[in-house]
Amino acid sequence: MNRKHSLKLGLVFSVIIFLIILASGVISALLAISLHMKVFSPPNNILYPILNLYAVSVIVGTTISAVVGKRILSPLVKFSGALMEVGKGNFNIQLDENKYHIDELKEMSQNFNVMVRELNNIETFRSDFIANVSHEFKTPLASIEGYTMLLQSDNLTDQEKNEYTKKILSNTKRLSNLVGIILQISRLENQGIIAEKNKFKLDEQLRQTLLLFESRWTSKNIDLDLDLDPITFYGNEELLMQVWANLFSNAIKFTPDNGTITCTLRRSDSFIITTISDNGIGISEDVRKHIFEKFYQGDKSHSSEGNGLGLALVKRIIDLCNGTIEVQSELGTGSTFTVKLPY
Ligand code: ADP
Repeated sequence: MNRKHSLKLGLVFSVIIFLIILASGVISALLAISLHMKVFSPPNNILYPILNLYAVSVIVGTTISAVVGKRILSPLVKFSGALMEVGKGNFNIQLDENKYHIDELKEMSQNFNVMVRELNNIETFRSDFIANVSHEFKTPLASIEGYTMLLQSDNLTDQEKNEYTKKILSNTKRLSNLVGIILQISRLENQGIIAEKNKFKLDEQLRQTLLLFESRWTSKNIDLDLDLDPITFYGNEELLMQVWANLFSNAIKFTPDNGTITCTLRRSDSFIITTISDNGIGISEDVRKHIFEKFYQGDKSHSSEGNGLGLALVKRIIDLCNGTIEVQSELGTGSTFTVKLPY
């Protein structure tokens, strides 16, 4: 709202107050005069002091209301201007909360600031999401295109042909995995319950999943520390395997050479609790808030392998099992993922 509008609003407010005082003054003066005339015989000059008093009270009342009105209206004018900015898509605007001494105005500005901050987060998430999705598709597609063009050139050695074909194949596989995991997440998002369940040994499943990654943890000389109680679980074996696979895969990926990965399995009265800990790079507070979002990767440069879908899939499976997943982590020290499944 510009200055012209603000002045107009202040003027309208003062005129309204003036008219109210004027009207109430006229009514009360008329009442007072008629009462006085009925009860006493009126002296001729009684009208003048009353009219003088009345005129003074109208002027003083209107002036006070104009000053007070300006104080009340100015935050509203500021608020309206800020809202206009938000309407234009500016989500960086903030009101000065400490400027207002009236509780309601202070609360209003605090709520406004929270709203704008949330809108800003949503906007950042939306633009990051689009950038991440397109990056995940564009990178392998660009590789495939590049190596296919190279393959078309004459006088390539057999070794070069072989190398380029391998690159094309691995990028095709990457794309196909990406599409596969997107379809799986979307299927699970539309699914309300897990239908196929059977009994299986959870401790055995954790060991077997780790074995799938043997070449990766041995090549990094990672030490494994397993402390698993023998527990039989009733659930979807395949989906739970994917949970452990993603958590182990991340633990190995984000742990440096000679690191340690610890896994425990315990049962409480109503839960089965699995923890997977590593002493790797850890996760900052800011990154932690987003790790379960689709396509989110802590490393914005996407230099580490992965597509940011693993933990989104894990979260969806755990939700379907009516369980919970929590992460505790300290940057540079390591991370612990705790999965609780209802028993
Ligand atoms: P990605 O394909 O990148 O591994 P995920 O969905 O599995 O995608 O994980 C999302 C992000 O969470 C990762 O990019 C990383 O920043 C963070 N993260 C997950 N697990 C760990 C871990 N054990 N240590 C450090 N960071 C982790």
